[in-house]
Amino acid sequence: MREYKYYMEGRFLGSSEKSLVFDPFLEEPFAEISYTQISQLSQAVFCAREAYRLWSKRSFAERAKLLKDIAQIILENLRELAELETKEIGKPLKESLFVDIPLAAEVFSYYASFLERLEERTQQTGSTIDIFEYKPYGVCGIYLPYNVPLMIFGFTAAAALAAGNAVIIKPSEYASLSLLRLTELLDLLSLPKGLIQVVTGRGDELGHAFAEQDIDLISFTGSRETLGKVVAASAKNPKKIICELGGANCTVVFQDADLLEAEQNILGSSFMKQGQICIGTSIALVEENIYDSFVPRLVEKTKKITLGNPFEPAVGLGPLVSQQHRSNVEQKVAQLLKTQGKLLCGGVIPRQKGYFYPATIIELSSMLYEEFFAPVLLVYKFKDYNEALKIVSQNPTGLVCQIWTKDLEKARTFASSAEAGTVWINTFAQMSAKTPFGGFRQSGFGRNLGEEGFFEYVQTKHTGIGFDKSPVSGWFGL
Ligand code: NAD
Repeated sequence: MREYKYYMEGRFLGSSEKSLVFDPFLEEPFAEISYTQISQLSQAVFCAREAYRLWSKRSFAERAKLLKDIAQIILENLRELAELETKEIGKPLKESLFVDIPLAAEVFSYYASFLERLEERTQQTGSTIDIFEYKPYGVCGIYLPYNVPLMIFGFTAAAALAAGNAVIIKPSEYASLSLLRLTELLDLLSLPKGLIQVVTGRGDELGHAFAEQDIDLISFTGSRETLGKVVAASAKNPKKIICELGGANCTVVFQDADLLEAEQNILGSSFMKQGQICIGTSIALVEENIYDSFVPRLVEKTKKITLGNPFEPAVGLGPLVSQQHRSNVEQKVAQLLKTQGKLLCGGVIPRQKGYFYPATIIELSSMLYEEFFAPVLLVYKFKDYNEALKIVSQNPTGLVCQIWTKDLEKARTFASSAEAGTVWINTFAQMSAKTPFGGFRQSGFGRNLGEEGFFEYVQTKHTGIGFDKSPVSGWFGL
């Protein structure tokens, strides 16, 4: 069985504390990971700080070169990385191979070209000159979620490194392998020692201790509940926190929508990655007049989504990431069915090997804002535009929202009132390295991607030069 080691100070290290990595399709271990000791974290931070001092002095062009090399290494090893990610997490290979990991490479390339265009600003007013420089924070701690580890590594580390920071990555204990393998490949690039380090371990142990460290910035992607713990632990050494959380995302289908397209996108956004996707549809809001025809069609198609080996191209859903996650989903569904939900399809764990949960639709009798992070779609009937807007406006989270209607004026008005970081009108997943991404309200603070993503990782420094008397010269007439 292959052992994966963590990466500190430019070395791969093993420890006596190891954890088995399970294949969620076969329900058997296939690798093991050495866990970083909590006592080693301060050494990782020390080494990162040394690397930051060197790296932050490198020109934008030198930094761009490293980012391009990382993008190239990801693409050259795409299949191996994608297979590892699918083996560990269970999401279909076509998603790892064609969507998630290529997007990570795209983000590194984007920030390389962004650096090539970036100029620091100066301004001249009368007899003064002001210089504005983009200075890194120092050492960034990056927490990754389990569903798209390399993609979020790209979303966060590319901008942090472009800005001149050193990074220490804490991947999820359920999804560390693709990043550890990528680190082995990046080690061949002769990076400054400590510029990129990967520490491994359980969230509530190593993750907790990591937040307490004397680092300068935390970039956290995960659940709101965990963020609360990270914020509390980070208070020991306060630092800037950027966070990308989940959301109970609403998809609104008006009666005048292209109903086939709306249906296809609800299926895709609810059930891709077994629903373990932060931008997915949690609740489909369907207008009253079409509800009785639209929802049964959606149910019929959902029943046809196949479960199976995530490496087979025709398979719709692979297993969930772990038995624990599946049993949480099972309990949450049972609870909902007792109170305000009616099961329309799915909801029964199949008798087969693998942590499978079927594509499931539940009709709500009253509104509920819930992200299952599983293939569970909630459907709810709304009367008219105003009711739909009210439901979306009252959502305590605000990551994404889809609107389906042929009336673009109506869609535009609705979109501008919806409090979400991204609103998609008649489309889904229209995102790229150039497009800022992040949540409103309980879905997070700060942005990844685009120019905004870069500026999260720099502090703008102002140097003012005077060539004449200063504004307070002679203030006291002395
Ligand atoms: P999680 O909150 O369980 O874990 C996230 C990270 O925090 C992991 O690295 C984990 O090891 C660590 N962690 C866990 N407990 C900790 C603790 N007590 N102290 C410190 N660190 C701890 O999230 P997850 O289950 O891996 O991911 C699913 C969640 O992430 C969903 O809510 C999803 O919507 C969200 N997500 C958001 C985005 C986005 O860009 N907005 C992207 C992907 C996932």
